[in-house]
Amino acid sequence: MVHIVKTPSYDERDVYNAVCRHFEAMEVAGDLAPSMTVLLKPNLLYGKKPEAGITTNPAILKAVIRWLREHGIEKIVVADSSGGLFTAEYMRTVYGASGLRVPGIEEYLNLDFTYERVPTREGFTVKSFNLISAVTKADYIINLPKLKTHAMTTVSIGVKNLFGTIPGLQKPDMHRRYPKTEDFVHMLCELCETVRPNVTLLDAVDSMEGNGPGGGTVRRTGLTMCARNVYALDVTAVRFMGLDPEEMPHLRAARAMGLWPEKIDVTGDGLAPCSPAFRLPDAVKSTGFEDSVPRLLRKPAEFVLDNLLRSYPKVDRSKCVGCGKCAESCPQKIIKVVDKKAGMPKKGCISCFCCQEMCPVHAIRVKRGLRGL
Ligand code: SF4
Ligand code: SF4
Repeated sequence: MVHIVKTPSYDERDVYNAVCRHFEAMEVAGDLAPSMTVLLKPNLLYGKKPEAGITTNPAILKAVIRWLREHGIEKIVVADSSGGLFTAEYMRTVYGASGLRVPGIEEYLNLDFTYERVPTREGFTVKSFNLISAVTKADYIINLPKLKTHAMTTVSIGVKNLFGTIPGLQKPDMHRRYPKTEDFVHMLCELCETVRPNVTLLDAVDSMEGNGPGGGTVRRTGLTMCARNVYALDVTAVRFMGLDPEEMPHLRAARAMGLWPEKIDVTGDGLAPCSPAFRLPDAVKSTGFEDSVPRLLRKPAEFVLDNLLRSYPKVDRSKCVGCGKCAESCPQKIIKVVDKKAGMPKKGCISCFCCQEMCPVHAIRVKRGLRGL
């Protein structure tokens, strides 16, 4: 079941009422005991003010914490590993810039920057994941993603949000190990099955379209969505975006792994797909060429294009401030910052767009070019 609540704004009362309705529909209270440690996993891609639509809004965290406190839970931890380092110093700046250092949230922010190796299920491609200790120590996990588009995985919703359970710069390592999107999203599903969030509550009051997850445009979509099954939530959220779940790489992987639920009941305030549909990131936009060939030839045309052309990052030197965040997050270590300007060659690039994701001034664009040239 996926439960929808129209949530027109981040007004404290609106959001708290939405959380109460969601958790009642999901019967969350029945899962909890006062001795439990409950982890809240927001999206804290990097430190950015809430209005930028990049991070889970503090109003959602505040409302969930209030609800948990009112249900007798005292051990609450808000934890994520942003892009960048997983250290006290770095995460404190992320917490501050994302508006989380306020009463009602600050006292619950994670200050444990260790991680543990966790074995996966028999038959998985990834034999173990390093997960931040806040995850391994939690008795109950509430996943709090933000609805966004994503340059590599097309969308970032419930499943992708869990990538932040991998500590710091081990995330680029995962990109290096799984450079192809289909392998990367398969890994994400295995990660999701290892972390196994108990409930997912999606912040889609303000969402992001275009060049997400960090450089897109905020779109007011005015709802929150909740489910126990994170794949059901992602399928429903993609439909809400006006997109086709079958076209989403991670949902195709979930289907192949038998994780896509057969039947999804949508309850609560109901749902109409956004019109117009969410704008896609430049990196995943169609060239339009495929649509100009007859339907029968479309698949082979797509195959040829995919093998000839690829999307690459390109720096707008007039915007680049030389901060080096792109170089730090590049799994291939090919980005060099010289004279306060970043340069990124095509050679060696795996088109993961971690650089674009982490650029604080949106100086990185996407260009289609011949592979490796
Ligand atoms: S240059 Fe950017 S897109 Fe290419 S591998 Fe590095 S981070 Fe990924
Ligand atoms: S992250 Fe952006 S601003 Fe910083 S060096 Fe890279 S391109 Fe320039």
